[in-house]
Amino acid sequence: TSRIAARVRRIKPSPSTSAADRANELRRQGKSIVNLVVGEPDFDTPQHIRRAAAEAMDKGATRYTLMAGTVELRQAIVAKLTRENGLKYEMNEIIATSGAKSAIYNALAVTLEAGDEVIIPAPYWVSYPDMVLACEGAPVTVACPEANGFKLTPAQLEAAITPRTRWLLINSPSNPTGASYTAAEYRALADVLLKHPDVMVMTDDIYEHIRFDGQSTPHILAVEPALRDRTLVVNGVSKTYAMTGWRIGYAAGPRDLIVAMDTLLSQSTGNCCSISQAAAAAALNGDQSFVSESVAVYKQRRDRTLALINAIPGLSCATPPGAFYLYINCAGLIGKTTPSGKPLSEDGDVVMYLLESAGVATVAGTAYGLSPYFRLSIATSIEILEEGCTRIARAVAELR
Ligand code: PLP
Repeated sequence: TSRIAARVRRIKPSPSTSAADRANELRRQGKSIVNLVVGEPDFDTPQHIRRAAAEAMDKGATRYTLMAGTVELRQAIVAKLTRENGLKYEMNEIIATSGAKSAIYNALAVTLEAGDEVIIPAPYWVSYPDMVLACEGAPVTVACPEANGFKLTPAQLEAAITPRTRWLLINSPSNPTGASYTAAEYRALADVLLKHPDVMVMTDDIYEHIRFDGQSTPHILAVEPALRDRTLVVNGVSKTYAMTGWRIGYAAGPRDLIVAMDTLLSQSTGNCCSISQAAAAAALNGDQSFVSESVAVYKQRRDRTLALINAIPGLSCATPPGAFYLYINCAGLIGKTTPSGKPLSEDGDVVMYLLESAGVATVAGTAYGLSPYFRLSIATSIEILEEGCTRIARAVAELR
């Protein structure tokens, strides 16, 4: 018998965190490691945002705030949702949380009864299924193959819905593939959802601004406003403004959901960091030039890395329209043998081989629910990406 609760024993630590830990451990042992694991911007938080935090501290914003977040931050979020997404929310329909991660977890925690189902298109962000399990729900993953652009089709959605379905989780652009739904694709998914009024929709919009195709990211709610009373919009400042460490995310949605989240958070973490809230408000209200500048840099990296990867026999990668990852198809390596005689029978073997023989750290597709693939992050310098690709090419050439 364990003294750890069953709902926690069902979940595993984040595979990307584990992969990063393993890479750091090898580095400590003196191995030269190219770490392409981490999904966080390598830029510093823009100066005007840091300055706003320092000013907030000096002005005494160092105390508890309203549970749902400061008026200043929630007004900034209201303005952002109107300006960028065409979505109208009142301040009392918004809650600020310690990262988008916390918003998603808490939304699931206040809605799922044991056994309730959550539809998660795969490949998915590693945390979704485990968050559902931690809330005693049942993740229903739906494989969305590369041939369909890694996107959920209306027929797949229809087939996945049961009387126990509580949520559909949408992440566009997606981690790990960058797949991004068009307004027309949302229209078709919304038509299915309109037939199932009990299914709620959670949109994780954290990568909405990291787009390389010149498109803006549509929102399913702007396409079908009738979904408003059952949609939770989740977003945050981590990726857009290089603010991963500040831990500010938020959710906008129907009042009953927001009130329930407010209640649960008030009895668990409490409000998110007062100083970070001031910084996030400055990020949303202030000069947005960092966003387009950083996206231009990510695009150069994506283009360069994509070309290098697609030149390696046995690997292929579709062009991701957004986010900052490459989800690389390694089907061409499965069945090959390493120089030390080890067969590569799944993507986990490929990732282990790349780590141990070439010192390149990536994450296996199994973590994201669609194999055989591996993910590398392009949120690092071109030099490091080139070095990583050179090493991968060399290691792949040694396979038999
Ligand atoms: N959602 C997705 C799809 C992510 O990839 C991440 C971070 O990796 C998050 C949410 C977490 O964002 P935050 O730092 O705001 O908790």
